[in-house]
Amino acid sequence: MSLVVQKFGGSSVADPDRMRRCAQRAITAKRAGHDVIVVVSAMGDSTDDLLSLADRISSSPAKRELDQLLATGEQVSIALMAMTLNELGFPAISLTGAQAGIRTEPAHSRARIRSVDRDRLDRELAAGRIPVVAGFQGTTDDGEITTLGRGGSDTTAVALAAALNAHECEIYTDVDGVYTADPRLVPNAILKQKISYDEMMEAASLGAKVMHLRAVELGKNYSVPIRVLHSGRVGPGTLICPESECMESRSVSSVVLKKDIGRVTMTRLPNRPGIQSELFRPIAAAGISVDDIIQTETATPTAGEPLSGEVEIALTVDRADLSDVNTLLKMAAAELGSPEPTIDLSLCKVSAVGVGMRSNSGVASTMFDALAQARIRIANITTSEIRISCLLPHDDGERALRTVHDAFGLGDAGGSVSVASGLDPARRQV
Ligand code: ADP
Ligand code: ASP
Ligand code: MG
Repeated sequence: MSLVVQKFGGSSVADPDRMRRCAQRAITAKRAGHDVIVVVSAMGDSTDDLLSLADRISSSPAKRELDQLLATGEQVSIALMAMTLNELGFPAISLTGAQAGIRTEPAHSRARIRSVDRDRLDRELAAGRIPVVAGFQGTTDDGEITTLGRGGSDTTAVALAAALNAHECEIYTDVDGVYTADPRLVPNAILKQKISYDEMMEAASLGAKVMHLRAVELGKNYSVPIRVLHSGRVGPGTLICPESECMESRSVSSVVLKKDIGRVTMTRLPNRPGIQSELFRPIAAAGISVDDIIQTETATPTAGEPLSGEVEIALTVDRADLSDVNTLLKMAAAELGSPEPTIDLSLCKVSAVGVGMRSNSGVASTMFDALAQARIRIANITTSEIRISCLLPHDDGERALRTVHDAFGLGDAGGSVSVASGLDPARRQV
């Protein structure tokens, strides 16, 4: 029998009525003859509420204790969702990450899934039950509860779909699918029919929170078709699939805004072999992920020397990590006899993403022209094969996002449709 994994995000299970609506989705798939595994997130904003509660007790709680706390959010929703399905006449059983066989590496707050032991899930499916699995959590070999990073329930769903060879993983959320930009910030964004794994991965890593990055990575590695759909409206959603199935002809297919970026700049660093590894080793050891790194030579090379004696290194990180990074780099600067690092608190990043960029020229200049016309100052530029990113003043972020989206002709010419009034499912798709 074919298997479908359905994941319901926080706003989709925010109250009993919405939970019933999601349960009906599982029932429809069951009636169509599929086995179904349901994955749920914590209800509504409950993960944020738990974090605020912890914050009132400690400004730096142990990550292990935070994981113990945050995992309870999903445990509430699995029990309630299983009760909902049972009440509607469909046998279901709630399972924590550990009970569902999800093993992770021993890293709290952003653990990666190492393996899925499918025995228990197979037994429940064979008994005709719908397993309702807690997203976002797993367990280490030592039985410690871990969480997978914010938004990690998507990853639970795709990991289960991969481990059990599901024919599709459906991610139900509060928008109709993946758009050319966040439809809450760009009212004329267009719903995409398909997006390639690579483009979705790039967009997710640049801040498009509609999918968790690791979920898309797993989907690509294990060839799991992922469909993003609205939990409360019927529609085709967006299929995340191999590039060969996408036939995207545009050079840029989506635009992404990442807010709350901080930058630390170190100047007058001696440019000797190993300096970069000395600076970045403690950051990596602290488990902090660095966004972009920009190194510039600040003194001209002396005759006969190919490299100058001094460099400046700037790096960007999530604003939440800025103070930890700054502390580490301050210590490094003191040891090197370099000036104290300087920090910028209010930056954001707007990125244009598209696999078509590989074969089309002029993408960067279109983006720069658009930002110039909007009189937005660019603090830094980084690129990859399929994206161009500009670091900008935080307050210009949303305007820049709309400007760049328009510059690449991604918007619906029909004009604005507000999310607050509900997106029209019949809107043009690309
Ligand atoms: P869930 O709780 O269901 O996991 P999330 O809040 O994590 O939902 O993700 C859905 C949100 O992602 C949408 O409400 C939307 O604001 C945001 N988003 C960002 N970029 C995009 C995009 N390109 N397409 C669709 N939604 C996007
Ligand atoms: N509840 C977790 C969060 O809010 C995981 C998820 O929703 O995917 O980040
Ligand atoms: Mg999410």
